[in-house]
Amino acid sequence: MTDERIVIVGGGLSGLRTAERLRRLGHTGPVTLVSGEAHPPYDRPPLSKSLLTEDEPAGPKPLRDPGRYPELGLDLRLSRHAVALDTGRRELTLDGGETLPFGRLVIATGARARTITAFTRHANVHTLRTWEDCLRLRAALGSASHVTVIGGGVLGCEITASARARGVEVDLLEGLDQPLARVLGGAVGASVAALHRSRGVTVRCSAGVTAVRGDGRADTVVLADGTAIPTDLVVLAVGSVPNTEWLEGSGLALDDGVLCDRTGATSAEGVFAAGDVARMPHPDGRGTIRLEHWTGAGDTAALVAANLLAAPRDRRPLTEVPYFWSDQYGSRIQCLGVPGAGAEPVTAEGSLESGRFLVLYAEDGRVTGAAAMDMPAALARCRTAVGDRRPLSAVLDEAPWERRAPARA
Ligand SMILES: Cc1cc2nc3c(=O)[nH]c(=O)nc-3n(C[C@H](O)[C@H](O)[C@H](O)COP(=O)(O)OP(=O)(O)OC[C@H]3O[C@@H](n4cnc5c(N)ncnc54)[C@H](O)[C@@H]3O)c2cc1C
Repeated sequence: MTDERIVIVGGGLSGLRTAERLRRLGHTGPVTLVSGEAHPPYDRPPLSKSLLTEDEPAGPKPLRDPGRYPELGLDLRLSRHAVALDTGRRELTLDGGETLPFGRLVIATGARARTITAFTRHANVHTLRTWEDCLRLRAALGSASHVTVIGGGVLGCEITASARARGVEVDLLEGLDQPLARVLGGAVGASVAALHRSRGVTVRCSAGVTAVRGDGRADTVVLADGTAIPTDLVVLAVGSVPNTEWLEGSGLALDDGVLCDRTGATSAEGVFAAGDVARMPHPDGRGTIRLEHWTGAGDTAALVAANLLAAPRDRRPLTEVPYFWSDQYGSRIQCLGVPGAGAEPVTAEGSLESGRFLVLYAEDGRVTGAAAMDMPAALARCRTAVGDRRPLSAVLDEAPWERRAPARA
């Protein structure tokens, strides 16, 4: 246990959950939370779903009841950016030049939307990461007849579904052979593409965008094969960039994120990283991975809070199975583990053609991941199989799970 000041940089899910967990674990010392945003921590998943389709959303969905902040005893600094870190002097510098001494530090600065400068110079090319982005995009969808969504990952697919819910025509462009192929493989991706097509979306796969044309406002998206798509609005959903620029010169090991071990500890003693910005050793021991999942942000926050208060020998590694969900057209897609682009699944229940399925991914005969569409109970039954890498044949023998009592994913 430490009474020194703990500074958390980043006021998203992982920053807030770290602060909450520190208090729950009995830390009574000072905690400062520095956030670049003007709003107290809010939830991002609704930004691409309900908040994009609602007529007049009141505001971002807070992650904590405003009335319950006093009990956290937080020194909350909103609209402030950390600009430099000195791990030797244990000092954080904020914009404006103020320095904050700290005993322990948590980096929870998340990520921002990746942009393509040649495209974003047009006023009507949008990205989506913040509440302000959501407001702008929602307003633009209100007056658009057609939107081109560049990027068929989870975010691009959700924005597509929300645009359709608002009656807007959509061209969904994906560079790989299917939407979601990078995370769930081509077979599941084809099922997701079919879902979008059934809702009237023009899904174009293996589509390379070469230009976004227009005079100040984009009006045409041009593909490598020469196809020109007339459009009112463009959304770029081409991934994210971790917010680590402020750490350059700090001496911390960085590589598309803050490198840390599976306890969340970075290369500097007393400095930890959580959430989307953290790059950890891959659960299968091969290389490193930076996950950008809501559940992972909470898991790593809880982990880091506990490890930060523990003696180094008592720190525990992250053991939670990676999990994400995505809501599209009222269907829920869920995934456990990290299947990856090359993984092709075995169907355990339902069928990919029907759009209701549970699939398992395996390597060397052992289960490494599971994905489902509209089969939450069945997916939940696979958590241990994925976590323990159980033999695929044994797990398949236990199916079907869907008809049994539901369990939480
Ligand atoms: C639109 C959208 C929809 C999503 N939907 C899903 C979903 O359905 N399912 C799912 O599993 N996941 C979803 N996610 C992912 C999930 O929301 C993220 O994994 C999670 O928000 C990560 O939290 P974080 O706190 O690590 O980072 P962030 O939420 O990015 O928060 C980081 C905070 O740090 C601040 N910051 C950055 N730099 C500095 C600095 N130098 N100084 C001070 N503050 C700084 C930022 O302004 C931000 O407030 C979605 C994400 C988005 C954007």
